[in-house]
Parts: sequence; C-alpha cells; structure tokens
Amino acid sequence: MRISRQECGVCKHESVQGMYLMSMWLCKDCERAIVELEIEDASYQWYVEQLRKSKMNLLLTH
Ligand SMILES: [Zn+2]
Repeated sequence: MRISRQECGVCKHESVQGMYLMSMWLCKDCERAIVELEIEDASYQWYVEQLRKSKMNLLLTH
C-alpha cells in the first residue's frame, strides 16, 4: 500500500503523520508546536498567521 505524503500548510514539509485543520494539512510537528506554544510566543503568532493566509488562499480559489 502506498502511503501518500501531504505537504504541511505551515512549514511546507511533506509528512505522512498529521491532521487536517480547516481543510489544511498540518504535520505532527506543527500540530504539537501549536498545542504547546504560549499565545504570547512570537512563534505562535507566526503559526496563526500561516493558518490565516492559507484560509485566505482557499477563499480566493473558490
Ligand atoms: Zn508542518
């Protein structure tokens, strides 16, 4: 069975393990990072920004 790799919408790395968040693929590393980061953390803001951008892209393609 062929395992399909998905490109993470945040870090752009291809990964087999992960989850869909707002119809965007999120790799295990980014999923964990978002869960563990504090809202005050600059990295958290960066992740949120990536998610926001990807959602905008989805809206534009429809
Ligand atoms: Zn990622």
